[in-house]
Amino acid sequence: MSFTLAIVGRPNVGKSTLFNRLVGKKLALVDDTPGVTRDLREGDARLGDLKFTVIDSAGLEDVTDDSLQGRMRRLTERAVEMADICLFIIDARAGVTPTDQVFAEILRKKNAHVILAANKAEGKNADAGVLEAYSLGLGEPLRLSAEHGEGMDELYHMLRPLAEEF
Ligand code: GDP
Ligand code: MG
Repeated sequence: MSFTLAIVGRPNVGKSTLFNRLVGKKLALVDDTPGVTRDLREGDARLGDLKFTVIDSAGLEDVTDDSLQGRMRRLTERAVEMADICLFIIDARAGVTPTDQVFAEILRKKNAHVILAANKAEGKNADAGVLEAYSLGLGEPLRLSAEHGEGMDELYHMLRPLAEEF
């Protein structure tokens, strides 16, 4: 029994950082430089005793303005179709942006099974952004710090029942 988790969200929220933490190898490059990671990449994830497939939706970092929305949409839709469940990440320090709202809409339209996570949530700076995340209407946000490994136990508890379902 296993499931596939797609990590989705706009560029720079920490998707690849989380992917690397789950996969335990530097499969997805983490970088601030545009154009470093591309498209969708898949890895074997481990979290406690859970084993599952994880998809990192990259390939948006090098796209600007007009083409971003279309490409973002196609890539995210593809990731959602491949996955049993989506981990939708926002940046708790930035709060909810218009682009985040576009993502939320895509996920709603696709009827995706969504776990909402507010990443970069270490420290007090993130409190306002975490609260803002409720406005997306996707339930209670999971407080995460992919970089510091915080919130991984809560993520485990959210994924644990799915391991039985799929
Ligand atoms: P992606 O574009 O969504 O894949 O984002 P990346 O994983 O490449 O991360 C973008 C930037 O955010 C990098 O500089 C990361 O080091 C940083 N980052 C990722 N997770 C965290 C976090 O939990 N806290 C903080 N403060 N920075 C993070
Ligand atoms: Mg990335």
